[in-house]
Amino acid sequence: MGEKVTFKCLENCASCCFVAPIDKEIWDKHQEDIIGTMKTLIPYGKYVVPITTNGICPFLKNDKKCNIYEDRPKICRDYGLIKEMPCIFLDKNGKLRDKNAQRHIMKFWADKETIMKTRSGLK
Ligand code: SF4
Ligand code: SF4
Repeated sequence: MGEKVTFKCLENCASCCFVAPIDKEIWDKHQEDIIGTMKTLIPYGKYVVPITTNGICPFLKNDKKCNIYEDRPKICRDYGLIKEMPCIFLDKNGKLRDKNAQRHIMKFWADKETIMKTRSGLK
């Protein structure tokens, strides 16, 4: 029998709601739901990457809830559940990570950011 997934985000976290590629279709459909101030929009295949002035996802509300939650992109649904996108705080079963494990995941994301910046010529 498969392991039951019990992942549930921490209350008022939204620590991972930063720059993310959003499906063009979802982006077009939810123009009225944008909250953040847009700086630029980068086309990325069938996605767009919205860059806001504060670096936070344009759909994140002040109360740290997602304004398009029911229709949020797959990347947001997968976050924390797959090994390519680990949550810093919780493991894939929703269990709180210890400090060492949190540090390990922080390093994973820092390395990933460095690789992306280097590849895109930003570093
Ligand atoms: S996936 Fe993790 S970092 Fe993102 S909101 Fe949920 S608990 Fe916070
Ligand atoms: S679309 Fe919603 S869940 Fe996804 S990063 Fe933005 S605010 Fe967070």
